[in-house]
Amino acid sequence: MTTATQQRSTLDVEVCRRDFPILATEVRGRPLVYLDNAASSQKPRQVIAAIETYYREKHANVHRGVHHLAQLATDAYEGARDTVARHLGARDRREVVFVRGTTEAINLVAQSFARPRLGAGDEILLTQLEHHSNIVPWQLVAQQTGARIVVAPLDATGQLDLEQFEARLSPQTRIVGLAHVSNALGTVLPVAEVCELARQRGAVTVVDGAQAAPHLQLDVAGLGCDFYAVSAHKAYGPTGIGALWGRGELLAAMPPYQGGGEMIRTVSFEGTDFAEAPARFEAGTPNIAGAVGMAAAFDYLDALGLEAIANHEHDLLEYATRQVAAIEGVQLVGTAANKASVLSFLLDGVHAHDVGTILDTEGVAVRVGHHCAQPLMDSLGIAATARASFALYNTRQEIDALVAGLERVRELFA
Ligand code: PMP
Repeated sequence: MTTATQQRSTLDVEVCRRDFPILATEVRGRPLVYLDNAASSQKPRQVIAAIETYYREKHANVHRGVHHLAQLATDAYEGARDTVARHLGARDRREVVFVRGTTEAINLVAQSFARPRLGAGDEILLTQLEHHSNIVPWQLVAQQTGARIVVAPLDATGQLDLEQFEARLSPQTRIVGLAHVSNALGTVLPVAEVCELARQRGAVTVVDGAQAAPHLQLDVAGLGCDFYAVSAHKAYGPTGIGALWGRGELLAAMPPYQGGGEMIRTVSFEGTDFAEAPARFEAGTPNIAGAVGMAAAFDYLDALGLEAIANHEHDLLEYATRQVAAIEGVQLVGTAANKASVLSFLLDGVHAHDVGTILDTEGVAVRVGHHCAQPLMDSLGIAATARASFALYNTRQEIDALVAGLERVRELFA
């Protein structure tokens, strides 16, 4: 289906780039160098076309329709669930709930799974590097239940300190929440080990896979986690759609998160009989086109091969790390041995926002700020970093453009 399907172990990046129309645009008279992929990636024409075809040829509301288009739309939506389930490594398609994204997935678990089960004295164990969307939902549920948040620290490289993590696992630990890949540092966390430790103590694991989905072959069953959350838009799919994978027996025991149409079996004013998962958690007309686009994005990734993508991105990260670290006054933030596609750094004497603004004049898009990880930034004693993050379509030449832009920043602030 893609022009680049033939490349499995290596990636033909120039062929892939032609799949992404936006990469041919210019910014301020310069070729766009898009290095803000951890915030959101660009979209290939295969994803854009899947959404367009859906709206041109198949749209109607899903489920319960007897007419032709309602059937086509239902097939498209439920077919997308099959694709997402396969891509995530789920054993059962009914374990995949469509949600708005990672944020909603974690809120769903916090409110529907955790809230009825937690009480005073219970503990929710998180890591120091979590994104706000894997902190704030737990703070809300802690306030609602009297549970307490416990934080596992990092080592000096930005990797989770497993010994310290284990030391904080207590008989009171009910939930363990952690990112698979850190958006601020790029660290790939030892999720399988963490899940095994948590499982031995009877704690339930919630993995934030927002930054893993574009870079790693996902295998929720193999990881041994209980819940796994992803957003499509970071993995070449559309915004406003994502998936929560949950163990079937856990989803089956969870009450609805929101009420409305689609999530019921029968309704009367006396009471409502709820549908089984996943419909129970999908109240209202779903984001059908979004699900179709998400499935197209996962098909695109699978056609290229996650291994080929990871190899290419690993080469980019190593190259960028060497080049950027060699610039005078640069300090890298996050140097774990196992990293994916994120290079965070400080430039001595220059505020990260000035770095980002000047790079933009050169057509280079990076993200600057706290990256929605303020507790991490506080623990590092910094307010903000500049962050370049790489996707399958980035090239070494684009990293050269980043480096040239950073040299220009240094000249301006010399
Ligand atoms: N977790 C991590 C690690 C992220 O990088 C992000 C997005 N920046 C999120 C969660 C939240 O994802 P979304 O905004 O798509 O819900």
